[in-house]
Amino acid sequence: MIVMKFGGTSVGNVEAFQQVSHVVIRAVEQQAETERPGVIVVTSAMSGVTNLLIEAAQRAAQGDQNYYDEVQDSLLLKHQVVAGRLIEEGQERAALSRILDERLHQFARLCSSINVLGELTDRGLDVVSGLGERMSAPLLAAVLRAAGVKAEFVDAGDLIVTDEVFGGAAPIMHATEKRCREKLLPMLEEGIVPVITGFVGETESGIPSTLGRGGSDFSAAIIGACVDADEIQIWTDVNGVLTADPRIVPDARSLNELSYEEVAELAYYGAKVLHPKTATPAVEKKIPLRVLNTFEPDYPGTRIVEQAQSLSSGTVKAISGIRAMNMITVAGRGMMGVPGIAARTFGAVARVDANVLMISQSSSEQSICFVVPADAAAMVVGELQAEFEKELARHYIDNISGHPDVVVIAVVGAGMRGTPGLAAGIFSALGEARINVIAISQGSSEANVSLVVEEKQITKALQAIHRKFELHKPTHERVKG
Ligand code: ADP
Ligand code: ASP
Ligand code: MG
Repeated sequence: MIVMKFGGTSVGNVEAFQQVSHVVIRAVEQQAETERPGVIVVTSAMSGVTNLLIEAAQRAAQGDQNYYDEVQDSLLLKHQVVAGRLIEEGQERAALSRILDERLHQFARLCSSINVLGELTDRGLDVVSGLGERMSAPLLAAVLRAAGVKAEFVDAGDLIVTDEVFGGAAPIMHATEKRCREKLLPMLEEGIVPVITGFVGETESGIPSTLGRGGSDFSAAIIGACVDADEIQIWTDVNGVLTADPRIVPDARSLNELSYEEVAELAYYGAKVLHPKTATPAVEKKIPLRVLNTFEPDYPGTRIVEQAQSLSSGTVKAISGIRAMNMITVAGRGMMGVPGIAARTFGAVARVDANVLMISQSSSEQSICFVVPADAAAMVVGELQAEFEKELARHYIDNISGHPDVVVIAVVGAGMRGTPGLAAGIFSALGEARINVIAISQGSSEANVSLVVEEKQITKALQAIHRKFELHKPTHERVKG
């Protein structure tokens, strides 16, 4: 039994829907030969749709009464074109049209209320932003039926129970598992392919929520873990997880195998190919994840397992970078004598709910540097200044400031940490490219060394590190360092 998740570009237009049909039909045939057959499909919204929905809601809140009308028309067209080409005229197409109309009316009503209120809450935004999947999933189910697959639409609101952190909700696993098993296992028994909305869930009291941007990968992993799938497949528009973002490093290569830990590090530090939480539900049940290309379905892609075969111990496997960061420094000669500075610093950061991506301490204890998302920086600095008001007045601490426009680059590979020459390799790559390393840290796990550079140098920096470790070459051709 497998879960197959299709991303936005995989359901981006008529040709992509056709391609998904081929891939699903083949999987159903292959599954029929296995001991525990079953295919569950999870889909994202059509590409660009979530962005449009969010933009329309935001503009409605700012007073724009026209934009959401335009968006409503273009979304109807976008979905109807696919339906018109791939579903024959008749009851099926009429039923789908009614669903699309209903969703888009709901969208217009919501935007109109947001406009009247002049305010957009996270809770309100989740209702709007989840509508893309609530259109693409019934559409994909109908397209699959038209291609001869016994497919049925299922709304993940009926499956994934979440907390109330709107905009980035977490699943409540025991409740979710119960619902997934009750709903999905009988469907599989009957040979039905459930086609489920990615990205969305519902709170215990039935309020729509979302798992955060790019969250359909996470949806697939949650559902896969709940039904004990044999594999969770993430179908996207590249040949698996690559050694770097191919838009930044054009000669990046596909990786055969990665560990859950390695992929979690890459995703956390900006590799968009997987939502950072995707590995979490899979780890516990040791379900392999596979990242595959919808448009090149025979390519084996990347397998993500508990223990990936290592190339040779201590080697770099891949790199990623996360933009829009700010590096905060707390420094002063008198800091050494004051106990508990670090604890108070991170206490203050936690009070404003900021996420710390990297910490770099100087050995002299005269400064603490750490990286937070740019939009949290002003709040963090303000809170720290209040926390250390006395120390600032006495000049024990004389600098609390942020360094804007930086990126964190993660160099990832299991067991890489502590490898002799690794930091030297990174420094020489960046030195040769004339890039200043603002900070470096051993990273949050064994599999990661991270560094901070100026945002404008991200492309040069990633390309230089990629070349230095010869990640563009097949492993057997790399010169061992
Ligand atoms: P989907 O819509 O299928 O979820 P996404 O756009 O969310 O697809 O993620 C796939 C994209 O992630 C790729 O097209 C690629 O540009 C980008 N990406 C960034 N880093 C990596 C990486 N290390 N490996 C593969 N793709 C990456
Ligand atoms: N459609 C959602 C987004 O664009 C979820 C996803 O694509 O995974 O963020
Ligand atoms: Mg994605």
